[in-house]
Amino acid sequence: MSDASQGLRLYNTLTRTKEDFVPIDPRNVRMYVCGPTVYDFAHIGNARPVIVFDVLFRLLRHLHGETHVTYVRNITDVDDKINARALRDFGGEIASGALSLNEAIRRVTEKTADQFHRDVATLGCLEPTVEPRATEFVEPRADGKADMITLIQSLIGRGHAYVAAGEVLFDTASMPDYGQLSKRNLDEQQAGARIAVDAHKKNPGDFVLWKLSSPEEPGWQSPWGRGRPGWHIECSAMSAAYLGEVFDIHGGGLDLIFPHHENEIAQSRCAHGTSVMANVWMHNGFLQVEGQKMSKSLGNFYSIHELLETDIFGGRKWPGDVLRLAMLMTHYREPIDFSVRKLEEAENTLRKWKRAADLAPAAGSQLPVEVVEALSDDLATYAAFQQLTQLAGEATDFDGSGDNAAAVALKTALTFLGFDIGATKVDETVVAKAIGERLMLIAAKNWTEADRIRDELLAQGVQLKDGKDPVTGERVTTWEIKR
Ligand code: AMP
Ligand code: ZN
Repeated sequence: MSDASQGLRLYNTLTRTKEDFVPIDPRNVRMYVCGPTVYDFAHIGNARPVIVFDVLFRLLRHLHGETHVTYVRNITDVDDKINARALRDFGGEIASGALSLNEAIRRVTEKTADQFHRDVATLGCLEPTVEPRATEFVEPRADGKADMITLIQSLIGRGHAYVAAGEVLFDTASMPDYGQLSKRNLDEQQAGARIAVDAHKKNPGDFVLWKLSSPEEPGWQSPWGRGRPGWHIECSAMSAAYLGEVFDIHGGGLDLIFPHHENEIAQSRCAHGTSVMANVWMHNGFLQVEGQKMSKSLGNFYSIHELLETDIFGGRKWPGDVLRLAMLMTHYREPIDFSVRKLEEAENTLRKWKRAADLAPAAGSQLPVEVVEALSDDLATYAAFQQLTQLAGEATDFDGSGDNAAAVALKTALTFLGFDIGATKVDETVVAKAIGERLMLIAAKNWTEADRIRDELLAQGVQLKDGKDPVTGERVTTWEIKR
């Protein structure tokens, strides 16, 4: 094991083996995970990659230092499904001219993205370091960060893309090792393709980088006319923008291996002339519900929001930490059967852990080494949980002499794993009173005391934000829990 790997081993879809994880730059470990397409509530299957890669993010921060990990998870806010939803929900307003299609689209995407953020926060997930939105990376940017139009131009310039029938297409035949991730080769794809459907393509596997928009459709000006990007190019642009041409880890669900990730690799490698896009490719297994594939037609399709807030599943609401634990009881690469029984099991386990952890006054700074070791073995969460159950047993059997070290270790591990045991508990009236006092101190120009109050609150996990009331111009202070 090399020092740089810190003992972490990860299964790499690219090589189909578990490997030592050696970051390119241990002072900036870089991970990209494909995020949601924001047109509807995220379903419980969508929660799986968010939770799994949240655990990896936490582990990487532990191993390499909190400020030495950059985690990018995008928001896909350009997609034909979003346009259809905007027309469905705001058709009347659009027809009457009260709203433009673009405004309607923005309403759909902002509302959905806000809901997604609330949902995954309730599931105990940290915010990623950066969360770029695809629409902000279509055209060349003032800050010079990578963008989709420039990437497509490079691909055309390097002979990897061509224009046909109003589309820009990636030329798969121009990349001799296309298909490495999914282990599909071009011959197989050609044999299975229906040639007549895509007569303008040189090869059936060629995929869209840019397509023209009709005047009613959203679009951006480009060298190829007013249009919009294909799906895959956005992740090539946003990962390059924040993580560079080659980075450490790229993740998502199993269904993204082909075509999405295969095509991201093709675009990024061919545009930049690199031999890899990311060194490690990780994919979570699929979630099914009560033994069946989740689908709207089977009536077993559940949004995260419904599980948290309604009694649609098992006749009751489920807390976020129970959903989180149920998700992590199965190894991330295995399929999960999500069931009421599994949620009940998770709830019982969590109750036992919390009871034991409550025997400690506070979490400590030392994460149990066995927990780190289990997670470092390709995120063996189940093995880590066995350690927690053992600690819970030791904590409750404690004979009262000295510190209850097992309870402290358990509390520390639970907090680290994102279970809300160690979460900041805030008395809102106390915070409001402190903010009021601070505002009076600021008015009296007593900056030292004002800062002391701010820092004290921060130490308790409450972050203040100063701003101005847009109407009265008065100073106002809001607060949030620092995660
Ligand atoms: P989508 O919005 O469909 O692109 O999906 C967002 C993320 O959720 C992707 O990483 C998908 O692979 C993942 N995903 C979608 N459905 C499931 C499922 N049933 N189980 C696990 N992951 C899923
Ligand atoms: Zn992607």
